[in-house]
Amino acid sequence: KKIVIAIDGFSSCGKSTFAKAIAKRLNYLYIDSGAMYRAVTLEFLRSGLIKDGKVDTSRVDEILKNINISFSYDSDRKEYLTTLNGEVVESEIRSPEVANNVSLVAAIPEVRTRLVELQRELGKEKGIVMDGRDIGTVVFPNAELKIFMTADPLVRAQRRLKELQAKGVDISLDEVLSNIQERDYLDQNREVAPLRKADDAVILDNTNMTVDDQMNWVENLVKS
Ligand code: C5P
Repeated sequence: KKIVIAIDGFSSCGKSTFAKAIAKRLNYLYIDSGAMYRAVTLEFLRSGLIKDGKVDTSRVDEILKNINISFSYDSDRKEYLTTLNGEVVESEIRSPEVANNVSLVAAIPEVRTRLVELQRELGKEKGIVMDGRDIGTVVFPNAELKIFMTADPLVRAQRRLKELQAKGVDISLDEVLSNIQERDYLDQNREVAPLRKADDAVILDNTNMTVDDQMNWVENLVKS
C-alpha cells in the first residue's frame, strides 16, 4: 500500500537527500516544500519587496496571486527542478541571498496559506515523500509515516559548506553556521506553524549516520 511520508526537521539536516533516496527506493514522488518557500523568496527579492531584512507586506497578496510554482522533471539529471512562472530557478533558489531571507518570507501567514494549499494539491496522490518544516504537523497531519530529523549544528554547517563549495559558492564555515542557527531560531519561533516535532513523528538524529545507515533505519520502519 502506498503511503504519505512526511519529513520535517532543522535546516541542512540532509532532509532532501534522505527524502529523495526514499522516493527512489519506493518509486514514490518527492516534493521539496522548502524549494517552494525559496521560489517565493526569489520572486519577492526580484520584485524589490525585501529591504533591510523587512518585507513590504502591502504587495504580498498581489505578487502571490501571480506566482506559479511547479516542478518539471529533468530526465538528464533524473530529478525535479523548481520552476517559477515557467523559468527553471533550481540554482537561483539555492543562493545565499535567498537562504538569508527565506525564513523571513516563510513567517508571512499569507505565504504559508498559499503554499500549504499547493502542497496538498501536489500530494493528492499517495506514494509521496515531502520534506519541510510543517509537513507532519500542518500539511499532512494524517501522514502514515512522520520523521523528524535533527543533527548537531556544526556537523550540519560542515556538510552544507561542502555542498556550497562544490557548487563554487564562496562562503565561510562561520557564515554557513550562523545562517543555519538563525534559520533554526526563526523557524522555531515564528507565530504561524512553528517548526516542531509532530507528536507521532519518529526522531532521526543523523549526526553520526551515513545516508546508507539512514536508509537501513527507514526500511525497518516502512516494513513494520
Ligand atoms: O528546506 P529548506 O532549507 O530548503 O527550506 C528553506 C526555508 O523555508 C526554511 O528555513 C523555512 O524557513 C522555510 N520552510 C518552511 N516550511 C516548510 C519548508 C520550508 O517554513 N515546509
